[in-house]
Amino acid sequence: MASNVTFIGAGNMASAIFGGMVHSGYPADAITATATRDATLAPLAERLGIHTTTDNLAAIEHADVVVLSVKPQIMRQVCETLRDSVQKRRPLIVSVAAGLSAETLEQWLGGGLAVVRCMPNTPSLVGAGASGLYANPRVSDEQRALVGELMTSVGIIEWVEDEALLEAVTAVSGSAPAYFFLMFEAMEEAAVKLGLSAESARRLAMQTAYGAASMAMQSDRDPGELKRNVMSPGGTTERAIEYLEQAGLRQALDGAMQACAKRAQEMS
Ligand code: NAP
Repeated sequence: MASNVTFIGAGNMASAIFGGMVHSGYPADAITATATRDATLAPLAERLGIHTTTDNLAAIEHADVVVLSVKPQIMRQVCETLRDSVQKRRPLIVSVAAGLSAETLEQWLGGGLAVVRCMPNTPSLVGAGASGLYANPRVSDEQRALVGELMTSVGIIEWVEDEALLEAVTAVSGSAPAYFFLMFEAMEEAAVKLGLSAESARRLAMQTAYGAASMAMQSDRDPGELKRNVMSPGGTTERAIEYLEQAGLRQALDGAMQACAKRAQEMS
């Protein structure tokens, strides 16, 4: 029988995950989601057939897994109301909240719990996410496999054995969709200067990024080799890549990711 999974909070991230679970065949009957407003829950219940309620305590009564998916600012208050019930049943706790350590969450919930921290990214909303996962020592192999199954329904996962590495995950995938969106903006602006319409430029740039990512994922060659394959000596791509290297694209990415990881550390 499928484990009962309860989501506390049914916003963007939670609905992406339980939507992905249902679409990949997880029984809707084993999923419960909560929110503060019926207006959030009613369409989810109708569309996906999951259980919904505005009563957090009732929702976790039979839960094997509790996924904490409210905003970090209200997490403490939410955890404290769940505390007594969680201590009685000791479900696996999964948190998708940015910047809250497994230890902090465990303390707010009364201690002694198996906790998985997850750092997803926004492409999870379209089933193309990349999530980093960390399990505290109380998490069993079976529980790890279950969380892996849940998060794989919205994209790929990578486990890290040191919680601090979630800061690196934040830099390389959590915050990184925005790096690519910045590139799309910049490429669109440049292409308009070259005479293309903004719409054409945007379509071509996005499809090219999608194509490059698909090609790199399907290939057994490393990205450096794929890059060299596009560059004929004296050709157009070589000229562009030389310019990007001289302009310091590598250093800029290095600096951006260091700054991102440092900020993630300050916030946790
Ligand atoms: P969101 O769309 O604002 O959703 C928050 C949900 O929490 C809403 O459904 C809200 O209910 C519900 N809620 C508020 N107070 C509650 C309470 N006391 N009990 C039960 N539910 C309550 O937020 P989000 O973007 O999904 O973010 C949720 C978590 O995911 C955050 O901790 C964030 O750090 C993490 N995360 C998000 C992203 C992302 O890209 N979105 C990426 C990584 C991590 P109503 O709908 O009724 O208001």
